[in-house]
Amino acid sequence: MINFSFSEFLNSDTAKKNNINNFPDISSFDNLLHLIVFCLQPIRNLINKPIIITSGYRCANLNKILGGAVNSQHLNGQAADFIVKNMTPEKIINIILKSDIKFDQLINEHDKWVHISYNKEKNRHQVFKIK
Ligand SMILES: [Zn+2]
Repeated sequence: MINFSFSEFLNSDTAKKNNINNFPDISSFDNLLHLIVFCLQPIRNLINKPIIITSGYRCANLNKILGGAVNSQHLNGQAADFIVKNMTPEKIINIILKSDIKFDQLINEHDKWVHISYNKEKNRHQVFKIK
């Protein structure tokens, strides 16, 4: 079972406010699907609580407005940011690291949310924190 819908990864208040059509191409959809099937749904099953996506796919215009990196994996649907209510990013990351879930990058961003990416070609399994 999949608890996610694509709209959770496409909806953006910033995009709406700026009249940006934040709709991915097929290749980015495919990457989002991999991210959901191999990372987010297994994490959802493991934690057994709602995963709230705070940022998923970002088209170039949206990424620019949000100040994202020019090579951000959000640009091709490989990355998502999320929170889980009443759980710190540190705790979430520790749970993921104890599992066999594969990922490209797992980042604790400012102790506020978790960034996770999945690359169907090659996963680097990098874990770090941005202060
Ligand atoms: Zn991110």
